[in-house]
Amino acid sequence: MREGSSKPRFIVDAMLGNMISWLRILGYDTLYWEGDDKKLIEVAMKEDRIILTMDRDLALIAARNGLEAFLIPNNEASRILAELSKRYGISLEFDPYETRCPVCNHLLEMVNAESREEWICPSCGKKYWKGSHWRNIMKTIMDARRERARRRP
Ligand SMILES: [Zn+2]
Repeated sequence: MREGSSKPRFIVDAMLGNMISWLRILGYDTLYWEGDDKKLIEVAMKEDRIILTMDRDLALIAARNGLEAFLIPNNEASRILAELSKRYGISLEFDPYETRCPVCNHLLEMVNAESREEWICPSCGKKYWKGSHWRNIMKTIMDARRERARRRP
């Protein structure tokens, strides 16, 4: 899928900082929000974004404005991803051509270095590769898949 497809987009409040990277790595356009709730609601409305929050009041305000909001019950990445997959159909497969910069949300470009796969962010210039942290990333994604399988349908 390319930009402009019907993939869900998200806006995540500051309490859930670690979710940002996960959603971006999995290729989902995700904004990080630090600031007042009213503005967040405006952005979510304008850009058609699903709100992820641990703040009950914010979830209520969102619902009152007819917005989709998911009140996150815990801060465990794999469980949250499993739930988002169930609710919104997000994919729990890593797609090397459809992954986003964890820092700035821009789609990454894959570059073929001689010996390893690398990605570069055309926006902020950061480079990524499958280093030692990669195993941890894959483990969380695998845990999310297992958790998702437990939550059928
Ligand atoms: Zn970037």
